[in-house]
Amino acid sequence: MHINYFCIMDRVSINHIIEEFSRELGFCAYGSAQYAKLDSDMEYLKSYLSKGFNGDMNYLERNADKRHDPALLMEGTKSILCFLAQYNRAPEFPKDYPRVASYATGEDYHEVLRGKLHMIAGRIKEYLPGVRYRAFTDSAPLFERSWARRSGLGFVGKNTMLINKEFGVRTFIGIIITDADLSVKKEEIASACGSCKRCIEACPTGALSEEYVLDARRCISYLTIESKRKRSDEPFNPDTRGYIFGCDICIDACPWSRKGNVSPITEFVPVVERVVRSRGEWLEMDNSRFDSLFSGTPFMRAGLDKIKDNITADGIQNQSRG
Ligand code: SF4
Ligand code: SF4
Repeated sequence: MHINYFCIMDRVSINHIIEEFSRELGFCAYGSAQYAKLDSDMEYLKSYLSKGFNGDMNYLERNADKRHDPALLMEGTKSILCFLAQYNRAPEFPKDYPRVASYATGEDYHEVLRGKLHMIAGRIKEYLPGVRYRAFTDSAPLFERSWARRSGLGFVGKNTMLINKEFGVRTFIGIIITDADLSVKKEEIASACGSCKRCIEACPTGALSEEYVLDARRCISYLTIESKRKRSDEPFNPDTRGYIFGCDICIDACPWSRKGNVSPITEFVPVVERVVRSRGEWLEMDNSRFDSLFSGTPFMRAGLDKIKDNITADGIQNQSRG
């Protein structure tokens, strides 16, 4: 049965309600895009995969058809609603202390944002009963940055990240796909990188060897979190510059990273005493202590063994760094 939702509530008003409520929940920006198959992103992905830039992230291959066509995630999808949430800068790490990426210093964004997205969907249903939706935060095969760009929330920089001119580089993307036709056309924002190459020049591993392309196999974030191999078994095992979980080097180098505020989302406040630890404190930690400290944080994705392996590898490279 076709439901004419806009007999009940007009599109502009419901978008206004969504935006207002998302701000109450701590999101900094909202935009919506009309359903489409993303042909050019699919071409980019095919080329990316053919060069092996995905490393061992085979899921990028497995679900490529769903990335191309979000209606394969939910039949009847008409709109893609995109939300940005800021995260905070990492705290200062004393010299020689292992470093972790800024996004990982609070609670797990998947959990925090998923709950908020379901609350937004619940609010939409109050006005448009019967709509169907699914909510995702980096948890489904979607070209998230492309949808955020199409929603008018920013541009994709040469560092391959979404950049919002007001809120900068440190943002998570939350997405709701729905069968309600809610999209409101916004101007897409052209790349504002210009002749800047700071991220490319700052990357210590050559992972950003081409503009707008990230070779994950060379990226510290991939090597310290995603890769299932021991670091000594990696075909490319670079100096990770003290990073043992993720990497902020290209973010910190980007002039747009000066934009943005402290995130209003309390779960993203960096927990200094949890993440700022000496090498010895990390290496002496046992599994039960790790679980009690890091349950519900991004660190569970890597696990303690992986983190210790990263610390050991960094120690070896630290010696050669002199
Ligand atoms: S996260 Fe680090 S290693 Fe990866 S591209 Fe950025 S600077 Fe390079
Ligand atoms: S550092 Fe420069 S080139 Fe890289 S994403 Fe930022 S603005 Fe673009």
